[in-house]
Amino acid sequence: MAAVRTEGETVLKVLILGGTTEATALARRLAGHDRIDAAVSLAGRTKNPVLPPLPTRIGGFGGVEGLAAHLAAEGVQAVIDATHPFADQISANAAVACARSGVPLRLLTRAPWAAGPSDRWIGVPDMAAAAEALRDLGEGVFLTIGRQEVAAFEAVPDKRYLIRAVDPPEPMPVLPRATLILDRGPFTVEAETALMREHRIDVVVSKNSGGGATDAKLEAARRLGLPVVMVERPAGDGVEALHGVDAAVAWLESMA
Ligand code: NAP
Repeated sequence: MAAVRTEGETVLKVLILGGTTEATALARRLAGHDRIDAAVSLAGRTKNPVLPPLPTRIGGFGGVEGLAAHLAAEGVQAVIDATHPFADQISANAAVACARSGVPLRLLTRAPWAAGPSDRWIGVPDMAAAAEALRDLGEGVFLTIGRQEVAAFEAVPDKRYLIRAVDPPEPMPVLPRATLILDRGPFTVEAETALMREHRIDVVVSKNSGGGATDAKLEAARRLGLPVVMVERPAGDGVEALHGVDAAVAWLESMA
């Protein structure tokens, strides 16, 4: 139910940079909040995004300048950067724009995944290094990295690729033996195991996104004894992080 506010009552104007399950969960918690007036921003990458239950704007701001102008125009008093750990450009822009505008900013992020004793992970710094790492590994490759960086694997075209993403890569990479599956998590360990068996997967490529929506592939790889080429996260911008929606709500309420 929407909050009822008396005339003249002030509320904290909040911008959530979204595109993640965490951002949507935070939006659910703030919908109808009587002291916090939050809105969400999405990049517009996904064709049919899961829309949060708050006013939502879609599309880039136009770099640091555009974001700073948006903060001023909307009277934003606090920003939560709940974008994906690999969305490093928008996070860098938010760090600069908020510092310049004097608007407090926190990162809402998930802990990275950590390898267990029976895992065979090969850590790499970026997608080009992930492609190179495949040269010495098996033929059947499961690319679970989203759709934006698949072209990096054109450097190693002689593998049999299974590409899974929410929307198709545009353009499709030039890979002679590639199969595309369009699907959105969460996935179960059983379904992931069956998929890897069906496609005779020898190695999984993943970003170290963290979180519970897509970690079933790691357990499936563990059970099947498959190596995982794990792309580690980009370095952050020194913005203080909050872990979990409760912490984000508490931080906002402390200012409201
Ligand atoms: P990115 O490389 O960090 O950002 C590229 C540009 O997209 C930004 O400079 C900004 O454009 C715009 N942008 C990104 N996030 C935005 C947001 N929430 N609201 C408004 N504009 C935004 O981002 P990306 O990696 O392409 O990710 C795009 C979106 O998908 C993010 O919202 C992220 O949370 C989500 N996502 C990303 C991944 C991933 O692996 N990268 C995975 C799942 C979800 P302007 O400079 O014009 O403002």
